[in-house]
Amino acid sequence: MKRQRKRILITGGAGFLGSHLCERLLGEGHEILCVDNFYTGAKENVLGLLDHPHFELLRHDITFPLYVEVDEIYNLACPASPVHYQFDPVQTTKTSVHGAINMLGLAKRVRATILQASTSEVYGDPEVHPQTEAYWGRVNPIGPRACYDEGKRCAETLFFDYHGQHGLGIKVARIFNTYGPRMHPNDGRVVSNFIVQALSNAPITIYGDGSQTRSFCYVDDLIDGLVQLMASEAGFTGPLNLGNPNEITIGALAEQIVTMTGARSSIDYQPAPRDDPTQRCPDISLAAERIDWAPGIGLEEGLKHTIAYFEKLLLNQ
Ligand code: NAD
Ligand code: UDP
Ligand code: UDP
Repeated sequence: MKRQRKRILITGGAGFLGSHLCERLLGEGHEILCVDNFYTGAKENVLGLLDHPHFELLRHDITFPLYVEVDEIYNLACPASPVHYQFDPVQTTKTSVHGAINMLGLAKRVRATILQASTSEVYGDPEVHPQTEAYWGRVNPIGPRACYDEGKRCAETLFFDYHGQHGLGIKVARIFNTYGPRMHPNDGRVVSNFIVQALSNAPITIYGDGSQTRSFCYVDDLIDGLVQLMASEAGFTGPLNLGNPNEITIGALAEQIVTMTGARSSIDYQPAPRDDPTQRCPDISLAAERIDWAPGIGLEEGLKHTIAYFEKLLLNQ
């Protein structure tokens, strides 16, 4: 069935996830307004879309008001890698909190449904495993990750208060570690770091002893989840976990990437960062029940695509 064409605003649309989302929704026939201040994103990520008649790119910082007319909003603007969000922590909180207020104010004025890209970081270093949406989390409010974690927690509060107070249609996705092509090669996240290091036969930097776990979701699966959540029944707000429950230690991830690339890299153990969560794995039963979603791409297949992307990128540098 052909869907009606919507005007969709994607903040952070020139970033890793945002650029894939722009592509997907443009492909579905919608009009896309991509808003980004290029803090961690880049015009190159959406270069292929610039000539499309239904695509518009606007350089704008969402901590300032924005007056446009749209039907739906995906609020993805926010640096996502610890290295980047800790570089200017005050700006990170402003982006999450002032940015959310502005985008919620916009959504309220034009009666648009708005989706928030929240995060598994709202669970902090969790004592409940795997994490369900009912868990309130364990976040250090004054640690190095707080600007991101508390900013995102406050954004969730704002979303639910605009929903309760103004009857705004909201959707809150709690995204777990996602990887794939167009991750920034220097953004410090583990998958991009390990692949870039392996492809240059440089030492693989494991922070701590490598026993900490994460659960990695391939970008295409995650984008499916976001789009399905936006399309979910009007009364469903989330929060909804989106991620791949296939949990792996960081040490095992390093081994897998070394094997897949045939690298001659050694392992360089470095001190663990402060407040680094020791385990993380989503319980995604609610996503199965409410939006009929589960990831379909396994780690090996996803890494294959991601390694191929970085191989090409490094060749052209
Ligand atoms: P990213 O850093 O590639 O993208 C974020 C984008 O937001 C960038 O293009 C950046 O320039 C833009 N941006 C930052 N501050 C802005 C501002 N004030 N105004 C306008 N644009 C701004 O990161 P990503 O991985 O694509 O993450 C996208 C969203 O998903 C973020 O909100 C992030 O918190 C969330 N998320 C991502 C993951 C993941 O594993 N990738 C996990 C959990 C949550
Ligand atoms: N806002 C915006 N675009 C709009 C409408 C509002 O950026 O189309 C911003 C505006 O800066 C405002 C904020 O959203 O301060 C919150 O709007 P709301 O209507 O909730 O509250 P207000 O502060 O206007 O009372
Ligand atoms: N990590 C690592 N080496 C790196 C980058 C990250 O060992 O070069 C670890 C990091 O300490 C954390 C895990 O990998 O335990 C995931 O880190 P990432 O920054 O990708 O995401 P997040 O901590 O936000 O889940």
